Amino acid sequence: MGNTYCLGYRGYIYLNIGPDWPLNLFMGLILAAINAFFIFVMAPRVVFELKCIGFFIYFGCIVSYSITALKNPGIILTPWELELEEGNKEEKMCKDCDVYTEEGSEHCFECGICIKGYDHHCPLSGKCIGSGNIFAFYSFLAFIFSGLVYFSVWFIITINELGS
Ligand SMILES: [Zn+2]
Ligand SMILES: [Zn+2]
Repeated sequence: MGNTYCLGYRGYIYLNIGPDWPLNLFMGLILAAINAFFIFVMAPRVVFELKCIGFFIYFGCIVSYSITALKNPGIILTPWELELEEGNKEEKMCKDCDVYTEEGSEHCFECGICIKGYDHHCPLSGKCIGSGNIFAFYSFLAFIFSGLVYFSVWFIITINELGS
């Protein structure tokens, strides 16, 4: 589809990987590096409960990022399906991909497709963020933020311990 890679069955898309997929690999490497750092540097220095919280945050990052990067963001596939719906006067045709767009959808020029509930094109996920993966995307941001807070707290405590 467009510039993206899809794995689907009977018009239903299960997997969708964006045009910036090398960045997916790059993010995977970063997440792996964070994992290694956590296991070898941080985890031995914290108590069991904090270790669990750390693993939970890390696991959340991986899962939400994978869903964001792989799930169909809401690609508009079938022009005829929307044509059948009566009373949709506000729909307009996308000249680039020949489908009827609905309200909130937008054409992404990087992906070359129209996306339902278009939010933005996210280079780090390598694809668009739309109605299909926006929840996973915001979960990912929340997990990353938790991870940063977790790391900062750990860092300050460790520095203080080393200083005393
Ligand atoms: Zn389009
Ligand atoms: Zn896009």
